[in-house]
Amino acid sequence: MKCIERPKVVLVPYPAQGHVTPMAQLALALRSHGFDPVIIVPDFIHRRIMSSQIGQDDGIVFMSIPSGLDENEPINFFTIAFAMESNMPIHLEHIISRLDDDEDGGVACVIVDLVASWAIEVANRCGVPAAGFWPAMLATYHLITSIPDMINVGLIDEFGIPQHQGEGCFLPGQSLLSTTDLPWLVGDSASQKSRFTFWLRTFDRLRALQWLLANTFPEGYDDQKQNYHSIKSTQDYPLIFQVGPLTRYSGNKNPSFWEEDRSCLDWLDKQKPGSVIYVSFGSWVGTIGEEKVNELALGLEATRRPFIWVISPTWRKGLPMGYLERVAKQGKLVSWAPQKELLQHEAIGCYLTHCGWNSTMEAIECGKSLLCYPVSGDQFVNCKYIVKVWGIGVEMQGDGWRDVEEGVKRVMEEVEEMQERALELKERVFGDKGSSRAAASLTAFVSDLCRSIY
Ligand code: UDP
Repeated sequence: MKCIERPKVVLVPYPAQGHVTPMAQLALALRSHGFDPVIIVPDFIHRRIMSSQIGQDDGIVFMSIPSGLDENEPINFFTIAFAMESNMPIHLEHIISRLDDDEDGGVACVIVDLVASWAIEVANRCGVPAAGFWPAMLATYHLITSIPDMINVGLIDEFGIPQHQGEGCFLPGQSLLSTTDLPWLVGDSASQKSRFTFWLRTFDRLRALQWLLANTFPEGYDDQKQNYHSIKSTQDYPLIFQVGPLTRYSGNKNPSFWEEDRSCLDWLDKQKPGSVIYVSFGSWVGTIGEEKVNELALGLEATRRPFIWVISPTWRKGLPMGYLERVAKQGKLVSWAPQKELLQHEAIGCYLTHCGWNSTMEAIECGKSLLCYPVSGDQFVNCKYIVKVWGIGVEMQGDGWRDVEEGVKRVMEEVEEMQERALELKERVFGDKGSSRAAASLTAFVSDLCRSIY
C-alpha cells in the first residue's frame, strides 16, 4: 500500500446474486468514504453483469477472474466451492499484487464475503489487511461461531448432525432458534456434512480477522440500548460493525444477473391497492420439487387474488396442465422482476417469500407483510425473526394448496396490524436514527482501518 490519496478497496463476494448485490451496495458506500472499489467476480458472473445498473458510472469496477468451471455443466454450491478453493486464489493474488503496485494508489483493504473465505488467505499472502463481510443476519453468524459450543454440549456431532431434534432444542445463547434451523442442514446427509465442513473452514479462517462488516441492524427489540457501532465478542473473534441494511445505498439500482421483466409494473398499475400477492423464491433456491410447485400453483389460483410469480424454467415444469391459460387473467408469471420496485408498489398486499436476507430487508424497507415459505440455509432463521420477533409475517403451515390459500388469508386478515408493525420496523431500521447508526458504524470501521494502515 503506497499511495494514500485515493486507495483501492478490493471486494470479493460469493458468486451469487444475493451476495454480489450487497457487496456492490457496500462498494457504493465505501466510494463515498474516498475509496476506489474493485469487485472481483468469476468469469461466469462477470459476463452476466456487464450491463449492470451499478458500475463504471458510479465509480465501481467489476473485474473478472477465471473460475475454471465449464458453463455448459451445472454450476452449484459444490462446483463453486471447488473453484474457489482450487482455481481462483492464484488469479486473485495476481490482481491484488498488480492493483497494489498501481501508480495511482495501492490497496487499503480486501473485503471478503465469509462465504468466500478462501480470499482471506490470499489477502494475507499479499500482505494486505483483510476485513470480513457477513451478508446475512448476525443471528446466523452466531450459529457459525457457536459450532464448538454446540459440539461441546452435544447438540451436534463432529459432522454437524443434530443429536437432538425438535423445536425445544434451543441453540446456545439463542432461545428462538433450534437445531432444525442450522444453515448447513440442506439436502441429504452427505450434502449436510459437506456443507458443515465448508462452515468449519470458514470459522477457522474468520478467527484471524480484525474486522467484520455485517449487512444487518440490531435485530432484537430489547437490545436497542447497546452501542452498535462495533461489538467485540467475548471470544477473540473480529470486531463487528453492523453497517446494514446496505440496500439504502443503491436506491432501485441492482447489479442484476438477468434481464428484468418490467412489464409487471404496468400490470400492477392496473390492480387495486393491497390486492396483489407477489411470489418469489429469490435467485438461488433449488427447486422445491414438482409436486410442491404444483400445490403452490393451485393454492395461488384458489385465493382468487391477482398474483405476480417470479418462476424459473425448472420450476415451471411443476405447473399443472393448462395452468397458464387458466390463470391468464389472474396471474402474471415472469422469469425475473425489478423486485424492489415491485415491493414499493401500493398494489402489493402480500409477499410470499423464501425469506432470503436481501429480500427480507427490501420488504422491511417497503413496509410489506410477508407469507414465509423458507426452503434452505439461513431462511429458517430469518423466518423466525419475521414471524416471532418483528411480527410482520406469518409462516406457511404446510406445503399443500390449502396451506397456501390459508396462509394468504391469514396475511390479508392480519394485514393492518402487521402493516403497523412493518412501518414501525421500517422507521427503526431506515429512519433517521437507524440510518445514522449504520453510517456511524461504517465510519468507525473506516477510521479503524485508516489508523491501522497509516
Ligand atoms: N431479485 C430480483 N428480481 C427477482 C427476484 C429476486 O431483483 O425477480 C433480487 C432481490 O431483490 C434480492 C435478490 O434478488 O436482492 C435475492 O437475494 P436474497 O438474499 O433475498 O435471496 P437469494 O437469491 O440469495 O436466495
